[in-house]
Amino acid sequence: MSARILVVDDVPSNVKLLEARLAAEYYEVRTAQSGPAALELAPVWAPDLILLDVMMPGMDGFEVCARLKANGATEHIPIVMVTALGESCERVRGLEAGADDFLTKPVDDETLFARVRSLVRLKRILDEWRLRAETTSQLGVRLRQEPAPSVRGTRAVALVVDTLEWQRVAAALAAEGIGADRVTNGHEAMARLTSAGCDLVLLDLRLASEDPLRLASRLRAEEATRDTPVLLLAEPNHRQLLFRGFDLGANDYILRPLDANELRVRARNQIRRKLYQDRLRADLAYSISLAVTDPLTGLHNQRYLRGHLKSLLASLQAGGGVLAAMMLDLDHFKSINDRYGHAAGDAALQAVATAIRKQVRLFDTVARYGGEEFAIVMPGATAADAAVAAERLRREIAGLRFEPLPGVTHALTISIGVAAVGAEEVDDGEAAAEILLRRADEALYQAKRQGRNQVVVLQNEGEHVSAA
Ligand SMILES: [Mg+2]
Repeated sequence: MSARILVVDDVPSNVKLLEARLAAEYYEVRTAQSGPAALELAPVWAPDLILLDVMMPGMDGFEVCARLKANGATEHIPIVMVTALGESCERVRGLEAGADDFLTKPVDDETLFARVRSLVRLKRILDEWRLRAETTSQLGVRLRQEPAPSVRGTRAVALVVDTLEWQRVAAALAAEGIGADRVTNGHEAMARLTSAGCDLVLLDLRLASEDPLRLASRLRAEEATRDTPVLLLAEPNHRQLLFRGFDLGANDYILRPLDANELRVRARNQIRRKLYQDRLRADLAYSISLAVTDPLTGLHNQRYLRGHLKSLLASLQAGGGVLAAMMLDLDHFKSINDRYGHAAGDAALQAVATAIRKQVRLFDTVARYGGEEFAIVMPGATAADAAVAAERLRREIAGLRFEPLPGVTHALTISIGVAAVGAEEVDDGEAAAEILLRRADEALYQAKRQGRNQVVVLQNEGEHVSAA
């Protein structure tokens, strides 16, 4: 997997060395020799990872990191800080600034490439969500621009072997407001994770009763836990296990002896990233629902109805059965607008939508088809079934008390056209959908022509039968 890597270091020989090693593995590398140069290049070049020296004159790595994470254009880029010291307090400071990990100079190739691969892969997943979110924002849906969500109240599941260590882990997480549940084996872990939500899994590589990496791999395979970050608790001699863990999709790790602050901040960073991804996903679901919903009535729109009808008819063709459609029109809608204003017109449409919602079955699909026109698709209904439902709806609306202005009442009526189709008539879902809607529309036109406030059922092509 190739990726773009930005190497930032004030010492030219360090830059050259890292650049050569990364380029040899076919990574695309660019370099910056100061913090300001990195801040200038990162948003423009959009690297997949930044290797950032801690000690630099002027602006140090911590500040560069914090600035990159504070900028919406670069906040999602993973940052690995490269340090000469490797002190715990320094790691915590970097993690607090938003760094994803640390490498200690001199950096060995195996560790470097294991971390690069893992972080780039995790970024790609996030990129996918970001891209979808961007696409929907181009559709006119505004995405929320909120600060990083708080991790208070989130929950972690910890598979920790040692009881004393578990107590220290729970206390460290509690300091960030993260609640934790302990499990002691893979079976318990899966049961807990699939039954209730969880924002982070801590997995102890010392687990001896079973292979902890098998569990890590299962977490990635299961739908419920696919996107839950996994933080490995490892011994310094667990290097090879860690590398395999990264390849299996683990997100982060912490080495023993556990430093409570480091654990707290690593846990927090991982949960923040998950909450960010959850938010992108929720925004996407919301924008999809907006794209298929009529804002005035809350019903589906024509685009959704056509798409859904097409799939219903395709499954009808495969599985047999019948399906009916109704087209409805609010009679004399223009005169409501003209006499009482557009707000009254909107209120009339909303009243009709509410009445329709009350009358249809759970699995019927209702859409505002356009202007004052509505459509209902009724799977499993014959023309006769739909005619009964249509007549009930017509009466319901004729009986509504609609007040366009205070103290003024106006009688609302609708005309309805009904048509149905059987599996034997469907060759192609899309064509059948067009034909069915056209026939319901013809019946509606007939109902209008015959004086409105009535139901017309189109039995066969061209044969109109008034049902009321
Ligand atoms: Mg330096």
